[in-house]
Amino acid sequence: MKLSLKDCQAIDVHAHPYVGNLKPYSLDEYVRKLSLAVIPNQIPDHYQWVKNQPYPGSNMWVQILIRRLAKYFSCEPTLEEVVTLRNERAADFRGFTRELFRDANITGVVTDFGYPQPPLSKKEYADLCGTRIWEVYRIEPVMVRLAESTPDFVEFIDQYREELTQALRKDEVVGLKSIIAYRSGLDITPMNEKLAAEEYEEFRRNTRAPVKDLRDYCLHIAMEECTESNKVMHIHTGVGDGEVVLPKASPSFLLDMLRNKKYENTKVHLVHGGYPWVEEAAFIVSILPNVYMDISLQNPFSGHGVKRILSQLFEFAPFDKVMYGSDAFTVPEMNWLGVHLFKECFEVVLNDWIESDYMDHDTARAIGEMVLYKNFENVYQEHVKGAIV
Ligand SMILES: [Zn+2]
Repeated sequence: MKLSLKDCQAIDVHAHPYVGNLKPYSLDEYVRKLSLAVIPNQIPDHYQWVKNQPYPGSNMWVQILIRRLAKYFSCEPTLEEVVTLRNERAADFRGFTRELFRDANITGVVTDFGYPQPPLSKKEYADLCGTRIWEVYRIEPVMVRLAESTPDFVEFIDQYREELTQALRKDEVVGLKSIIAYRSGLDITPMNEKLAAEEYEEFRRNTRAPVKDLRDYCLHIAMEECTESNKVMHIHTGVGDGEVVLPKASPSFLLDMLRNKKYENTKVHLVHGGYPWVEEAAFIVSILPNVYMDISLQNPFSGHGVKRILSQLFEFAPFDKVMYGSDAFTVPEMNWLGVHLFKECFEVVLNDWIESDYMDHDTARAIGEMVLYKNFENVYQEHVKGAIV
Protein backbone atom coordinates (compact mmCIF):
# COMPACT_ATOMS: atom_id res chain seq x y z
CA MET A 1 0.00 0.00 0.00
CA LYS A 2 1.38 3.38 -1.04
CA LEU A 3 1.63 5.95 1.69
CA SER A 4 -0.69 8.92 1.29
CA LEU A 5 -0.87 12.22 3.19
CA LYS A 6 -4.10 13.35 1.49
CA ASP A 7 -6.27 13.32 4.60
CA CYS A 8 -3.66 15.01 6.79
CA GLN A 9 -4.22 18.55 8.10
CA ALA A 10 -1.60 21.25 7.52
CA ILE A 11 -0.50 24.18 9.65
CA ASP A 12 1.22 26.82 7.56
CA VAL A 13 3.96 28.25 9.81
CA HIS A 14 4.85 31.19 7.59
CA ALA A 15 2.57 33.24 5.33
CA HIS A 16 1.31 36.78 4.83
CA PRO A 17 -2.20 38.27 4.72
CA TYR A 18 -3.82 39.73 1.60
CA VAL A 19 -7.10 41.23 0.48
CA GLY A 20 -9.24 40.43 -2.54
CA ASN A 21 -8.78 42.14 -5.88
CA LEU A 22 -11.51 44.67 -6.62
CA LYS A 23 -11.42 44.11 -10.39
CA PRO A 24 -10.77 40.80 -12.20
CA TYR A 25 -7.08 40.21 -12.93
CA SER A 26 -5.74 40.38 -16.46
CA LEU A 27 -3.32 37.57 -17.40
CA ASP A 28 -0.41 39.93 -16.90
CA GLU A 29 -1.57 41.10 -13.48
CA TYR A 30 -2.21 37.55 -12.34
CA VAL A 31 1.26 36.31 -13.35
CA ARG A 32 2.76 39.35 -11.63
CA LYS A 33 0.89 38.55 -8.41
CA LEU A 34 2.56 35.14 -8.44
CA SER A 35 6.08 36.54 -8.76
CA LEU A 36 8.67 37.41 -6.09
CA ALA A 37 10.19 40.05 -8.39
CA VAL A 38 10.50 43.62 -7.12
CA ILE A 39 10.54 45.04 -10.62
CA PRO A 40 7.49 43.76 -12.49
CA ASN A 41 8.22 41.73 -15.57
CA GLN A 42 7.16 43.60 -18.71
CA ILE A 43 6.74 41.82 -22.00
CA PRO A 44 9.16 43.66 -24.28
CA ASP A 45 7.92 45.19 -27.56
CA HIS A 46 8.20 42.80 -30.51
CA TYR A 47 8.55 39.83 -28.14
CA GLN A 48 8.60 36.67 -30.25
CA TRP A 49 6.16 34.10 -28.89
CA VAL A 50 6.99 30.48 -29.57
CA LYS A 51 3.99 28.21 -30.23
CA ASN A 52 2.76 26.60 -26.96
CA GLN A 53 5.24 28.47 -24.83
CA PRO A 54 4.26 29.33 -21.24
CA TYR A 55 3.41 32.97 -20.44
CA PRO A 56 6.50 35.22 -20.80
CA GLY A 57 8.44 35.46 -17.55
CA SER A 58 6.53 32.64 -15.85
CA ASN A 59 8.51 29.83 -14.27
CA MET A 60 7.98 26.27 -13.15
CA TRP A 61 5.87 26.96 -10.08
CA VAL A 62 3.42 29.05 -12.12
CA GLN A 63 3.28 26.24 -14.67
CA ILE A 64 2.42 23.71 -11.94
CA LEU A 65 -0.15 26.07 -10.40
CA ILE A 66 -1.99 26.41 -13.73
CA ARG A 67 -2.11 22.63 -14.20
CA ARG A 68 -3.34 21.95 -10.67
CA LEU A 69 -5.92 24.77 -10.70
CA ALA A 70 -7.20 23.56 -14.10
CA LYS A 71 -7.79 20.16 -12.56
CA TYR A 72 -9.50 21.75 -9.57
CA PHE A 73 -11.77 23.91 -11.77
CA SER A 74 -12.23 21.08 -14.35
CA CYS A 75 -11.08 23.30 -17.22
CA GLU A 76 -8.41 23.33 -19.92
CA PRO A 77 -4.90 23.84 -18.46
CA THR A 78 -4.35 27.23 -20.07
CA LEU A 79 -3.59 30.45 -18.24
CA GLU A 80 -6.58 32.11 -19.98
CA GLU A 81 -9.14 29.57 -18.77
CA VAL A 82 -7.71 29.31 -15.29
CA VAL A 83 -7.62 33.09 -14.78
CA THR A 84 -11.19 33.46 -16.12
CA LEU A 85 -12.54 30.85 -13.72
CA ARG A 86 -10.44 32.11 -10.88
CA ASN A 87 -11.76 35.65 -11.38
CA GLU A 88 -15.36 34.38 -11.43
CA ARG A 89 -14.96 32.50 -8.19
CA ALA A 90 -12.90 35.20 -6.50
CA ALA A 91 -15.76 37.69 -6.99
CA ASP A 92 -16.78 36.20 -3.63
CA PHE A 93 -13.25 36.41 -2.28
CA ARG A 94 -14.10 35.15 1.21
CA GLY A 95 -15.99 32.16 -0.20
CA PHE A 96 -13.16 31.40 -2.64
CA THR A 97 -10.44 31.67 0.01
CA ARG A 98 -12.32 29.51 2.51
CA GLU A 99 -13.02 26.88 -0.13
CA LEU A 100 -9.33 26.64 -1.04
CA PHE A 101 -8.29 26.47 2.62
CA ARG A 102 -10.84 23.71 3.24
CA ASP A 103 -9.77 21.78 0.16
CA ALA A 104 -6.14 21.87 1.33
CA ASN A 105 -7.19 21.10 4.94
CA ILE A 106 -5.26 24.10 6.32
CA THR A 107 -6.09 24.33 10.00
CA GLY A 108 -3.90 27.26 10.99
CA VAL A 109 -1.55 29.94 9.69
CA VAL A 110 1.31 31.71 11.46
CA THR A 111 0.98 35.09 9.81
CA ASP A 112 3.59 37.79 9.34
CA PHE A 113 1.51 41.00 9.31
CA GLY A 114 4.73 42.97 8.67
CA TYR A 115 4.08 42.57 4.95
CA PRO A 116 2.19 44.21 3.33
CA GLN A 117 2.47 47.65 4.99
CA PRO A 118 0.36 49.27 6.37
CA PRO A 119 -0.71 46.07 8.14
CA LEU A 120 -4.05 44.40 7.42
CA SER A 121 -6.54 43.60 10.16
CA LYS A 122 -5.92 40.32 12.00
CA LYS A 123 -9.59 39.70 12.70
CA GLU A 124 -10.53 40.27 9.07
CA TYR A 125 -7.80 37.98 7.81
CA ALA A 126 -8.85 35.23 10.23
CA ASP A 127 -12.44 35.64 9.00
CA LEU A 128 -11.31 35.53 5.37
CA CYS A 129 -9.47 32.20 5.80
CA GLY A 130 -11.85 30.60 8.28
CA THR A 131 -8.97 29.07 10.19
CA ARG A 132 -6.77 29.71 13.25
CA ILE A 133 -4.38 32.64 12.88
CA TRP A 134 -1.30 33.29 14.98
CA GLU A 135 0.95 36.29 14.57
CA VAL A 136 4.69 36.84 14.45
CA TYR A 137 5.42 40.45 15.35
CA ARG A 138 7.92 42.07 13.03
CA ILE A 139 10.55 44.23 14.74
CA GLU A 140 11.62 46.46 11.82
CA PRO A 141 8.34 48.44 11.51
CA VAL A 142 8.56 49.11 15.27
CA MET A 143 12.09 50.48 14.86
CA VAL A 144 10.98 52.73 11.99
CA ARG A 145 7.91 54.08 13.76
CA LEU A 146 9.74 54.83 17.01
CA ALA A 147 12.72 56.45 15.27
CA GLU A 148 10.37 58.86 13.51
CA SER A 149 9.07 60.23 16.81
CA THR A 150 12.06 59.79 19.16
CA PRO A 151 15.24 61.89 18.72
CA ASP A 152 17.01 60.33 21.72
CA PHE A 153 18.68 56.91 21.30
CA VAL A 154 18.27 55.75 24.91
CA GLU A 155 14.60 56.65 24.84
CA PHE A 156 14.23 54.85 21.50
CA ILE A 157 15.72 51.66 22.93
CA ASP A 158 13.55 51.81 26.06
CA GLN A 159 10.39 52.25 24.02
CA TYR A 160 11.44 49.57 21.55
CA ARG A 161 12.01 47.02 24.29
CA GLU A 162 8.76 47.95 25.99
CA GLU A 163 6.79 47.53 22.77
CA LEU A 164 8.27 44.07 22.18
CA THR A 165 7.47 43.05 25.76
CA GLN A 166 3.87 44.19 25.33
CA ALA A 167 3.46 42.50 21.94
CA LEU A 168 4.76 39.20 23.32
CA ARG A 169 2.16 39.34 26.11
CA LYS A 170 -0.63 38.96 23.55
CA ASP A 171 -1.96 35.41 23.33
CA GLU A 172 -2.04 35.33 19.53
CA VAL A 173 1.60 36.50 19.19
CA VAL A 174 3.79 33.38 19.08
CA GLY A 175 7.05 35.24 18.52
CA LEU A 176 8.97 38.08 16.94
CA LYS A 177 10.22 38.24 13.38
CA SER A 178 13.23 39.97 11.86
CA ILE A 179 14.06 40.70 8.22
CA ILE A 180 17.59 41.85 9.01
CA ALA A 181 18.73 39.79 5.98
CA TYR A 182 16.98 42.46 3.87
CA ARG A 183 18.89 45.32 5.47
CA SER A 184 22.39 44.47 6.74
CA GLY A 185 22.73 40.68 6.58
CA LEU A 186 22.86 37.78 9.02
CA ASP A 187 26.45 38.14 10.30
CA ILE A 188 25.25 39.42 13.66
CA THR A 189 27.96 40.97 15.87
CA PRO A 190 27.89 40.99 19.70
CA MET A 191 25.78 43.70 21.39
CA ASN A 192 27.51 47.06 21.34
CA GLU A 193 25.43 49.93 22.64
CA LYS A 194 28.00 52.61 21.85
CA LEU A 195 28.30 51.67 18.16
CA ALA A 196 24.52 51.29 17.89
CA ALA A 197 23.99 54.78 19.33
CA GLU A 198 26.45 56.27 16.83
CA GLU A 199 24.33 55.03 13.93
CA TYR A 200 21.01 56.22 15.32
CA GLU A 201 21.06 59.62 13.56
CA GLU A 202 21.70 57.96 10.21
CA PHE A 203 18.84 55.52 10.81
CA ARG A 204 16.50 58.42 11.59
CA ARG A 205 17.45 60.07 8.29
CA ASN A 206 17.05 56.84 6.30
CA THR A 207 15.20 53.98 7.98
CA ARG A 208 16.26 51.57 5.22
CA ALA A 209 19.99 52.27 5.71
CA PRO A 210 22.10 49.22 6.62
CA VAL A 211 23.22 50.72 10.02
CA LYS A 212 24.49 47.29 10.91
CA ASP A 213 25.52 47.89 14.53
CA LEU A 214 22.15 49.40 15.35
CA ARG A 215 20.23 46.58 13.64
CA ASP A 216 22.34 43.90 15.31
CA TYR A 217 21.77 45.56 18.67
CA CYS A 218 17.99 45.62 18.12
CA LEU A 219 18.00 41.97 17.05
CA HIS A 220 19.76 41.02 20.29
CA ILE A 221 17.04 42.82 22.25
CA ALA A 222 14.41 40.85 20.34
CA MET A 223 16.30 37.61 21.13
CA GLU A 224 16.35 38.57 24.82
CA GLU A 225 12.63 39.33 24.84
CA CYS A 226 11.81 35.99 23.17
CA THR A 227 13.99 34.20 25.73
CA GLU A 228 12.25 36.00 28.57
CA SER A 229 8.72 35.21 27.32
CA ASN A 230 9.56 31.69 26.06
CA LYS A 231 8.28 32.66 22.61
CA VAL A 232 9.99 32.08 19.28
CA MET A 233 12.39 34.32 17.34
CA HIS A 234 11.70 34.09 13.60
CA ILE A 235 14.61 35.12 11.40
CA HIS A 236 14.32 35.43 7.63
CA THR A 237 17.07 33.33 6.00
CA GLY A 238 17.94 32.75 2.36
CA VAL A 239 16.34 34.33 -0.69
CA GLY A 240 13.25 36.48 -0.49
CA ASP A 241 12.07 39.28 -2.67
CA GLY A 242 14.62 41.05 -4.84
CA GLU A 243 15.77 43.37 -2.02
CA VAL A 244 17.56 40.74 0.03
CA VAL A 245 21.29 41.18 0.89
CA LEU A 246 21.97 37.87 -0.82
CA PRO A 247 25.71 37.50 -0.03
CA LYS A 248 24.85 37.70 3.71
CA ALA A 249 21.58 35.75 3.71
CA SER A 250 22.89 32.25 4.31
CA PRO A 251 21.93 30.85 7.74
CA SER A 252 25.57 29.94 8.43
CA PHE A 253 26.17 33.63 9.19
CA LEU A 254 23.88 33.25 12.21
CA LEU A 255 25.92 30.49 13.80
CA ASP A 256 28.03 32.66 16.11
CA MET A 257 24.98 34.31 17.60
CA LEU A 258 23.03 31.05 17.85
CA ARG A 259 25.91 29.26 19.59
CA ASN A 260 26.18 32.01 22.21
CA LYS A 261 25.59 30.50 25.68
CA LYS A 262 23.23 33.38 26.45
CA TYR A 263 20.78 32.05 23.84
CA GLU A 264 21.03 28.34 24.51
CA ASN A 265 17.40 28.24 25.67
CA THR A 266 16.06 30.69 23.07
CA LYS A 267 13.80 29.13 20.47
CA VAL A 268 14.76 30.27 16.98
CA HIS A 269 12.80 29.56 13.81
CA LEU A 270 14.78 29.86 10.56
CA VAL A 271 12.16 31.17 8.14
CA HIS A 272 12.41 29.71 4.59
CA GLY A 273 15.01 27.19 5.81
CA GLY A 274 17.78 29.29 4.26
CA TYR A 275 17.01 28.38 0.64
CA PRO A 276 19.16 27.86 -1.42
CA TRP A 277 21.47 27.05 1.53
CA VAL A 278 18.98 24.53 2.83
CA GLU A 279 21.68 21.99 3.76
CA GLU A 280 23.32 24.59 5.99
CA ALA A 281 20.02 25.21 7.75
CA ALA A 282 19.53 21.43 8.08
CA PHE A 283 22.96 21.11 9.68
CA ILE A 284 22.35 24.03 12.05
CA VAL A 285 19.04 22.61 13.33
CA SER A 286 20.78 19.26 13.80
CA ILE A 287 23.43 20.70 16.15
CA LEU A 288 21.43 23.29 18.10
CA PRO A 289 18.57 21.88 20.21
CA ASN A 290 16.34 24.98 20.15
CA VAL A 291 16.73 25.99 16.51
CA TYR A 292 14.07 24.95 13.98
CA MET A 293 13.44 25.55 10.29
CA ASP A 294 10.50 25.72 7.92
CA ILE A 295 10.32 25.02 4.22
CA SER A 296 8.22 28.05 3.28
CA LEU A 297 9.04 29.92 0.05
CA GLN A 298 11.14 27.07 -1.37
CA ASN A 299 7.79 25.32 -1.14
CA PRO A 300 5.93 26.00 -3.42
CA PHE A 301 8.06 28.54 -5.33
CA SER A 302 10.81 26.13 -6.33
CA GLY A 303 8.17 24.06 -8.16
CA HIS A 304 9.52 20.62 -9.01
CA GLY A 305 12.48 21.45 -6.69
CA VAL A 306 10.31 20.71 -3.64
CA LYS A 307 10.84 16.96 -4.09
CA ARG A 308 14.62 17.32 -4.28
CA ILE A 309 14.70 19.71 -1.31
CA LEU A 310 12.62 17.45 0.93
CA SER A 311 14.96 14.59 0.23
CA GLN A 312 18.04 16.75 0.66
CA LEU A 313 17.16 18.55 3.86
CA PHE A 314 16.52 15.29 5.69
CA GLU A 315 20.08 14.24 4.97
CA PHE A 316 20.86 16.13 8.19
CA ALA A 317 17.75 17.71 9.71
CA PRO A 318 16.12 15.72 12.53
CA PHE A 319 12.50 14.83 11.66
CA ASP A 320 11.17 16.88 14.56
CA LYS A 321 12.94 20.11 13.49
CA VAL A 322 11.26 20.89 10.15
CA MET A 323 7.86 22.55 9.75
CA TYR A 324 5.56 23.03 6.79
CA GLY A 325 5.10 26.57 5.40
CA SER A 326 4.20 28.36 2.16
CA ASP A 327 5.13 32.07 2.39
CA ALA A 328 1.89 32.79 0.50
CA PHE A 329 1.75 36.57 0.07
CA THR A 330 -0.81 37.73 -2.50
CA VAL A 331 -3.51 35.15 -3.30
CA PRO A 332 -4.97 32.10 -1.49
CA GLU A 333 -3.95 29.87 -4.41
CA MET A 334 -0.43 30.11 -2.94
CA ASN A 335 -1.54 28.63 0.40
CA TRP A 336 -3.53 26.00 -1.47
CA LEU A 337 -0.85 24.86 -3.92
CA GLY A 338 1.69 24.98 -1.09
CA VAL A 339 -0.07 22.13 0.72
CA HIS A 340 -0.91 20.08 -2.36
CA LEU A 341 2.55 20.33 -3.92
CA PHE A 342 4.21 19.59 -0.59
CA LYS A 343 2.10 16.47 -0.06
CA GLU A 344 2.60 15.27 -3.63
CA CYS A 345 6.38 15.64 -3.30
CA PHE A 346 6.76 14.36 0.25
CA GLU A 347 4.68 11.27 -0.57
CA VAL A 348 7.17 10.39 -3.32
CA VAL A 349 10.12 10.88 -0.94
CA LEU A 350 8.50 8.94 1.93
CA ASN A 351 7.47 6.06 -0.34
CA ASP A 352 11.02 5.89 -1.59
CA TRP A 353 12.26 5.60 2.01
CA ILE A 354 9.77 2.79 2.65
CA GLU A 355 10.82 0.95 -0.53
CA SER A 356 14.47 1.33 0.45
CA ASP A 357 13.61 -0.22 3.83
CA TYR A 358 14.79 2.82 5.78
CA MET A 359 11.50 2.77 7.67
CA ASP A 360 8.06 1.18 7.69
CA HIS A 361 4.80 2.71 6.51
CA ASP A 362 3.68 3.89 9.96
CA THR A 363 6.94 5.68 10.68
CA ALA A 364 6.85 7.41 7.30
CA ARG A 365 3.27 8.50 7.97
CA ALA A 366 4.29 9.82 11.39
CA ILE A 367 7.06 11.90 9.79
CA GLY A 368 4.56 13.32 7.28
CA GLU A 369 2.23 14.37 10.10
CA MET A 370 5.11 15.82 12.12
CA VAL A 371 6.22 18.14 9.34
CA LEU A 372 2.67 19.08 8.36
CA TYR A 373 1.49 20.10 11.85
CA LYS A 374 2.70 18.11 14.84
CA ASN A 375 6.15 19.68 15.02
CA PHE A 376 4.50 23.10 15.13
CA GLU A 377 2.29 22.01 18.03
CA ASN A 378 5.31 20.59 19.79
CA VAL A 379 7.54 23.65 19.35
CA TYR A 380 4.84 26.24 20.09
CA GLN A 381 3.20 24.19 22.87
CA GLU A 382 0.94 26.27 25.12
CA HIS A 383 0.97 29.21 22.65
CA VAL A 384 -1.06 27.18 20.14
CA LYS A 385 -4.29 27.85 21.98
CA GLY A 386 -3.85 31.64 21.73
CA ALA A 387 -4.98 31.69 18.07
CA ILE A 388 -7.49 34.17 16.69
CA VAL A 389 -10.40 32.30 15.11
ZN1 LIG B 1 7.45 35.83 4.23
